[in-house]
Amino acid sequence: MIKSNSLAIIGAQWGDEGKGKIVDFFCKYADGCVRFQGGPNAGHTVVFDDKRVIFHQLPSGLTHSHLKGYIASGCIIDLEVLKNEIEELKNLGIDIKNRIFVDYRCHLIFPFHKEIDKKREELKKGVKIGTTQKGIGPCYEDKYQRIGIRIGDLKDFSLFSEKLKQEFLRKNYLLMEIYEVPPISEKSYLNFVKENREFFLSLITDVSKEVYEELKKGKKIIFEGAQGTLLDINFGTYPYVTSSSTIAGSISGQVGIPFNFIEEVIGVCKAYTTRVGEGPFPTELTNEIGKYLQEKGKEFGATTGRKRRCGWFDCGIIRYAKRINGFEKLIITKIDILSGLNELKIANGYIYEGNEIDEFIPELAYHLEPKYLELKPFNQDFNKVKSYKDFDEEVLEFLNTIERLTGCEIWAVSIGEKREDIIFKY
Ligand code: GDP
Repeated sequence: MIKSNSLAIIGAQWGDEGKGKIVDFFCKYADGCVRFQGGPNAGHTVVFDDKRVIFHQLPSGLTHSHLKGYIASGCIIDLEVLKNEIEELKNLGIDIKNRIFVDYRCHLIFPFHKEIDKKREELKKGVKIGTTQKGIGPCYEDKYQRIGIRIGDLKDFSLFSEKLKQEFLRKNYLLMEIYEVPPISEKSYLNFVKENREFFLSLITDVSKEVYEELKKGKKIIFEGAQGTLLDINFGTYPYVTSSSTIAGSISGQVGIPFNFIEEVIGVCKAYTTRVGEGPFPTELTNEIGKYLQEKGKEFGATTGRKRRCGWFDCGIIRYAKRINGFEKLIITKIDILSGLNELKIANGYIYEGNEIDEFIPELAYHLEPKYLELKPFNQDFNKVKSYKDFDEEVLEFLNTIERLTGCEIWAVSIGEKREDIIFKY
């Protein structure tokens, strides 16, 4: 199923493309799965054997009992969320012993990061970013200010406690003076860490070295992106972006492996477009069709429960993501959600100040007028589809149009939420 030893699975839109399901599928054929950026702001849903797991920080492949899961140095960690997530897996009967590896360089999210995130967003009058309020931004800020505390610091608990107490002091000053909220006590958090310290220590390693050695041995590794290309801190629709780099090119720097170790990249995108939170969205549908997609597609954030905005498939975005990430192959998800609509459109580029533009331009995103192509709508029962040739003519026309306009080959199409609901083209 996977020819290359290292395969990166990247969101080609604004995240929530269904990467969790795709990563889980490919992990059956892999030896390891690496999360390379972000934190518990992700929510990757995996549905198997009538069970549903939402992975926030752990790599999505961990339901496969043979697989090793790595959290690389580009990630940040909320220890309370991590512990709960591991408990959830155990409750589902999934044995995680000696299967989870966390890089000692990962920075930690503390209660004050979450409080600052929340308060800051509340107080913003104009440009609300629409953050998940999980403390992601404030934690990355501390990392780049070089005042962050890393999971590896747990090895020396008295130094860790000292550093953390200092940080609580500084952040409480900020909370009280700027945000006018009561201070947070460090006591209960420190107790939690103390009680679970041995367990956390058992997970810590040098992921950069481990993954390097696995790849050297010829093991197959999946690199799992969180969020999507248009949420990348550099190449997304800034400032409505996440705090880390989500694109394929950043994998080597965030995991700590040579860049030429990434052999293959695939882009995952929905058969339509969604985005959660604020920011520009050229093909957004604020009408009944948008509502239909939102409801039928259950477009609620897996982490925050917020409604996702919905719109037509946008080839300009895929062209941009293709160029930035270097993928040639696409996996299309949620095609079943488009079934039953009375109209079907795909945006093929834009008009900007009277000129035609092929590729999405984040800087101009608010002013890009999509050029639409009308396609025949379809109404297919996807439960009956067992191979690519079973797709109705109109569905094939939709998929062929995407291939023709984006210059990407469709590798597979996801037709439902379950693990087995995926149809490969060849
Ligand atoms: P991710 O963050 O990219 O992993 O995406 P999410 O998990 O946030 O959102 C994708 C949602 O769509 C999840 O609830 C999946 O179970 C579901 N899903 C994935 N692929 C399909 C599909 O082909 N059809 C349907 N109906 N649901 C899907």
